[in-house]
Amino acid sequence: MQRFQYYIDGEFLDGEARYPSVDPATGLIWAEMPEARESDVDRAVNAAETALYDGPWAKTTATQRGKLLYKLADLVAANAQKLAELETRDTGKIIRETSAQIAYVADYYRYYAGLADKIEGSYLPIDKPDMDVWLRREPIGVVAMMVPWNSQLFLSAVKIGPALAAGCTMVVKASEDGPAPLLEFARLVHEAGFPAGVVNIITGFGPSCGAALGRHLKVAHVAFTGGPETARHVVRNSAENLASTSLELGGKSPFIVFADADLESAANAQVAGIFAATGQSCVAGSRLIVERSVKDAFLSILKRKAEAIRIGSPLEMATEVGPLATKRQQDHVAALVEKSVQSGARLVTGGQRPDGEGYYFPPTILDCDAVASPSLAEEFFGPVLSVVSFDTEAEALKLANDTRYGLASGVFTQNLTRAHRLMKGIRAGVVWVNTYRAVSPIAPFGGFGLSGQGREGGLAAALDYTRTKTIWLRTSDDPIPDPFVMR
Ligand code: NAD
Repeated sequence: MQRFQYYIDGEFLDGEARYPSVDPATGLIWAEMPEARESDVDRAVNAAETALYDGPWAKTTATQRGKLLYKLADLVAANAQKLAELETRDTGKIIRETSAQIAYVADYYRYYAGLADKIEGSYLPIDKPDMDVWLRREPIGVVAMMVPWNSQLFLSAVKIGPALAAGCTMVVKASEDGPAPLLEFARLVHEAGFPAGVVNIITGFGPSCGAALGRHLKVAHVAFTGGPETARHVVRNSAENLASTSLELGGKSPFIVFADADLESAANAQVAGIFAATGQSCVAGSRLIVERSVKDAFLSILKRKAEAIRIGSPLEMATEVGPLATKRQQDHVAALVEKSVQSGARLVTGGQRPDGEGYYFPPTILDCDAVASPSLAEEFFGPVLSVVSFDTEAEALKLANDTRYGLASGVFTQNLTRAHRLMKGIRAGVVWVNTYRAVSPIAPFGGFGLSGQGREGGLAAALDYTRTKTIWLRTSDDPIPDPFVMR
């Protein structure tokens, strides 16, 4: 059995308490994780604050920060396969995806390495003589980061990268489910040579460890990725320390297919959008909105593709759909499918949890035309697609926006002017046209409404980890005049 440690103030520690981690492909315990409690959280935050103001990090130049980030990026690239195997083992996400995604995570660190010494302050053309005024951009402070189980290295890189570029220190809380890759990543942070306390990586349970971290009085910003219900706790807890928050939450993203689209290509994108990562993707295109005249044709292509998907061990390179990460998740998906079928949704394919070991659930399509199916409103975070059809463009847009979420969306059409109208009309943080599930460190990412606030990726994300300080400097040697008049 593998034992993992957490990383506080430059040291790898076992923690007072430990808990078992289950391999979702077998349902068997394969590793033991350290559980951070409130006292560990306190130590980690104190270490981060000391590193921020008193340690060598405080004197590290922006260019040196960039060099450390480049080194970290190289180490992630060199260890991508090992990290991928750990993520696959601990979360069930297929090795085909974890290997590609973690290799790309190195590019996120490279992007922010390059940005570190380009975060500039400014000089203000102030409206007073004999006065120089400028803005310094300083690190926002100690940052608390919480991530969910899916893609922990990726979801943490979009926080750790810009925060380090900006000069912050941080405590990263891995998800209690599948924390192995992030705990292992801590060894690369150490090897890269970041001073003790700059990056602390712990894991523990949400209501204890996560809540203690989010409300800690020395935390200035909370960068959270997870579900909207947990985000409400995070925001309530931030009333304690008045930390700013950025929230990357779930989605119920529309995937619109017009009759003039290349149906084969759209079907491949839809398969990627809902069945990749076994549907455990915040951007899952989980609501197919298809023009009625091609609905049957499109569904038959999708059904064929869904039924040809290779389901199996996530550690096999040929596997396309692996297990869900936890039994809890498998139960949630099965129950929501059952509730949707009872409400009148028609099963096109899948729907039944298979016998045998592991937390598997097959690619499932629910035809929800003319049915008020809960599957159209609730996030599965699993491989389940709900389908509705439309006759007019206006109807398609109305259906697309019929949600409180607003993370991602897809539009498939050959009609350029229509594509432009829809990209303006859809209320979501990302619109993909004739493609789906493309991401890059250069492109900001984030949601509207219940999908969250704040953006990750791009230059602005690094600025979000800074705060400005306004400096006033009087350049006259004359005595200050009338002290009772504001100048
Ligand atoms: P979750 O909200 O249950 O947990 C996320 C993290 O928050 C975990 O580390 C958890 O321990 C922690 N947490 C729980 N309670 C907490 C509290 N009171 N205070 C502070 N932290 C707490 O999410 P999950 O179920 O693990 O993940 C699935 C959700 O994440 C889905 O809704 C999915 O859409 C969303 N997600 C969003 C994105 C995005 O970028 N927008 C990406 C991936 C996943």
